[in-house]
Amino acid sequence: MAKTKIIGPFSQLLTMDTIPLKGSVNDSQLEIIPNGGVVVSEGVILRTGIFDQLCSEFHDLEIDRIEKDMVAMPGMIDPHTHICWAGSRAKDYSLRLEGKSYLEIAQSGGGIGDTVAKTRAASATKLEALLTERATNHLLNGITSIEVKSGYCLNTEGEIKMLEVIRNVNQKLPVDLISNCLAAHIKPADFEGTSTEYLKIIIGELLPEVIKRKLSKRVDIYIDKGAFSVDEARVYLNCAKNLGFDLAIHGEQFTAGGVSLACELGALSVDHLEMVQDHEIHVLATSFVIPIALPGASLGLGCQFAPARKLLDAGCSLAIGSDWNPGSAPMGDLLTQTAILGIFEKMTMAESLAGITFRAAAALGLTDRGVLRIGLLADMIGFPTSDYREILYNQGSLKPSMVWKRGEKVSERI
Ligand SMILES: [Zn+2]
Repeated sequence: MAKTKIIGPFSQLLTMDTIPLKGSVNDSQLEIIPNGGVVVSEGVILRTGIFDQLCSEFHDLEIDRIEKDMVAMPGMIDPHTHICWAGSRAKDYSLRLEGKSYLEIAQSGGGIGDTVAKTRAASATKLEALLTERATNHLLNGITSIEVKSGYCLNTEGEIKMLEVIRNVNQKLPVDLISNCLAAHIKPADFEGTSTEYLKIIIGELLPEVIKRKLSKRVDIYIDKGAFSVDEARVYLNCAKNLGFDLAIHGEQFTAGGVSLACELGALSVDHLEMVQDHEIHVLATSFVIPIALPGASLGLGCQFAPARKLLDAGCSLAIGSDWNPGSAPMGDLLTQTAILGIFEKMTMAESLAGITFRAAAALGLTDRGVLRIGLLADMIGFPTSDYREILYNQGSLKPSMVWKRGEKVSERI
């Protein structure tokens, strides 16, 4: 187990403490400790404060000294990804640029069906290598916790394979992968029954197996015209809830209904929201459901962003996820996407940074991270600058030069 030590001095320590979970936030509400330091013990934060004061108070501790200008903040949290997949959809993207529709792309052998075929055909070893590469990329870019969905095999055996791959990579890498069972992504093309019958099989066969093997505590469903209806989702999610799963919903991307169902069932999050309307925003603001904006999907499809400013002004929380997936969101750069969403939606820096730290943690039901506070995980990142505003000002091109997971340095760029 890691020793107790002091890390610092940081030009600025941006703790993200004292920011509310919901609503708009001014940058003046950010707690910034100049010449800050963090005392870490057994992977958690023992103290934050002025570095020199910490050194005299804890004078016998080892010091992990930072020699250059650096701004430290909590490790980023990506609350929505699909990074366990095989194949590439570059051809789809070229067709999209030519103006081809979703249906035309699917008919030419692309679309999600292509990813399902390649992910089913991939061995667990191959999938582990692909997921390891993407999760490592995220970690080097400062994302220390990543939600990862299944949903590209769409049969019991294949979904178990995906969830086992996610578990195995989680055990091997110094990044937390939080799995989510998205077998209800879409009814697979080779399933001969109705979508209701497909969901029944997931409930009867797959979810009990997921519980038995402890593969995930979360269940997600895609509500949309080409996927599942609100009524189908209600029955499905109620069953999942009764089995003890936390709920998430892909909703309000192209069709309505996801937000009100998420609030009705007490889901942890409702994700996408590109076309969410005023009434749903009001309902969301009075609930505990965390909306997750996915600017990567808007950039990948050339669509509007979720109305982040409106959501925040109405009193909603707002987390931001990359939605990293082979189809609609191939970029996978959470910080760049956050900066882009921020400038288009006029989000303050405090709101943007909250959306990829503790508000994202809340969307995953995690209360042990996302803030640099006593007793929470010492997941931290350091940017090579003396002014925290440089982080979003550089629109994603300024990457963290150091990453700590549970107090251990896992990455350092010279
Ligand atoms: Zn998604």
